[in-house]
Parts: sequence; C-alpha cells; structure tokens
Amino acid sequence: MSADDPGDADRLDDPDDADRLDDPVVTRVEVPVDTRAPDGTTNAYVLDGLLVDPAARTDALDAAVAERGSSPSGGPADALAAPSVEAIAVTHAHPDHVGAVADYAALTGATVVAREGHADRFAAAAGIAPDETVAPGETVADTAVRAVDTPGHAPDHVAFAVGGPEAGGPPERSSRAVLCCGDLAVAEGSVAVAAPEGDLAAYLASLERVRDAGYDRLLPGHGPAIDDPAATCRRLIEHRIARERDVIAAIDGGAADLDAVVDGAYEKDLSGVRDLALATVAAHVEKLVTEGRVEGAWRARLADRGFE
Ligand SMILES: [Zn+2]
Repeated sequence: MSADDPGDADRLDDPDDADRLDDPVVTRVEVPVDTRAPDGTTNAYVLDGLLVDPAARTDALDAAVAERGSSPSGGPADALAAPSVEAIAVTHAHPDHVGAVADYAALTGATVVAREGHADRFAAAAGIAPDETVAPGETVADTAVRAVDTPGHAPDHVAFAVGGPEAGGPPERSSRAVLCCGDLAVAEGSVAVAAPEGDLAAYLASLERVRDAGYDRLLPGHGPAIDDPAATCRRLIEHRIARERDVIAAIDGGAADLDAVVDGAYEKDLSGVRDLALATVAAHVEKLVTEGRVEGAWRARLADRGFE
C-alpha cells in the first residue's frame, strides 16, 4: 500500500500459501494520525478477534471490524463465526496508537483490555477505562492472541502474537507465527527510544527476545510488514550499539553536557529533530550511568535537562 493512500485495508494472509490455510488471517488498516508518527500514519490490525492500535476512526477500519470471523475461507462457516472484533488493545498508550479506542469500543461492544499495571495510563491516553487487564504471557480476553512483553520504546509496551506451534494442532496444520509488534521494530529506519520514557536496556532485551522467538512475520505499528524478523531485530540492535559507541566516544572526547554529546554523536543535520536527538542521547546516557560505564555525575546533567 502506498503512503499516500491511507484508506485501504490490506488482507495480509498470503493466498499463495495454499498449504497453510489456517495461517492467521490478519487485516491491516493504515490510518492517518496527526502526531509525530514516522509517516503520518499508524497501522491498526485485526488479528484473530483482537483490534490492535485503532489510532483513528476511518471507513476502512469500520469495514475491517465489521467483517465476520477469522475463517479464511469466506465459506458458510463464516456465518457462524463470531464478530471479528471481540477485544480491543493497544501496543502502548502513545497518542498515535490510542485515538479511536473509545470509538471502536462503543461501536463493537468489544472488551477493552489494557496491560496489567498500566490501566491508569491507558485510561488517561485512550479516554476510556479498560474492562480488564492482561499480563504478558496471557491470552487477551476471549481471543487466542497472546500478549508478549516488549518494553523499551514505552514502559507499557506489549506485542500480540498469533499462530505458530503454540497454537496447537497437528504440525502439518501449524500456522505462521505472527507478532503484532507496535513500535518495537520497523522495516526501515528505526523507532524512537527516548528519555524519560524510553528504556534502552529494556528495548535491547525485547529485541533479543523477539529475535530468538522464531516469528515468521512482524507487523509493525508503522510501515510495511517485516518478513525477516531475526535480521530486522539484529539490524535494530546493531543500530543502537553503534549509537552507543558514538555517545561514549563523544563523552570520552570531552563532551561536558548533553548538548555536546548530541553534537558529537550525530553527524547529520538535526534541525527540526534536535529535541528528539537530545532525548535519545539522554536514554543512552541513562543506560551507561546505570551500567557504571560513564561517571555518576552524568545523572545530575540528565536532571539539569529535565530527564529522570
Ligand atoms: Zn510510540
């Protein structure tokens, strides 16, 4: 789907994969958001009865939630299938992921689910209190979708998994393992992990877990699907490690405050994104202080700029 055509829904099941008829049927709808999302859009998904990240209400998303059932056949079984949306959840409560949670809760009557321990944050962002919470490792409401712990980009960040061997059934009928991964990963470029909310150590650990979990496909909150999950996780980990090297080099080179680290660690022109670069560098410095790899005085320098 092209970025200038945000209204269409994509069926992400692969019709050529005829021997895997029970692959999870996933519908993606790219919806426009007026926040700082990378390309001005966020992907909402319907996967196995769970509506994920309804960031805005659109006709295409209305149509996706009105579709029936998760039966891929379109046959008579569909008539007996449950409504397509039984529950609504978000990968994290950033403004570009929660905008239409309340709208679709009212429209569908689906169970609204927040991550355990973050119900207040969810309610404040989405404007609606959750009906229940889910902890990582559990299934979401009455769906078969599993919540997967992926903090880092935000403290409440969670991903949603369907399919794969854990879904049960004989091996020849096992489906592809798909992870709706929010802002953990993107196909190109990188996602923001910025202080004070972002936690780089947690983010790297999340990437390593997802890298090793053997998913066949990642469905990110922004941009196209990721069909090489392990390679993409490795690329994103390497990107962070390279930036960390640049931050350490700037500090070793005599940078005495966060702004000087930003100047030393980035070669590109930062006009327009300097605040994000500063918050990113702050997240790196927080990690390095915690790990004892830069002197403790950096804690005060972080506080000076409003971090921590
Ligand atoms: Zn976010």
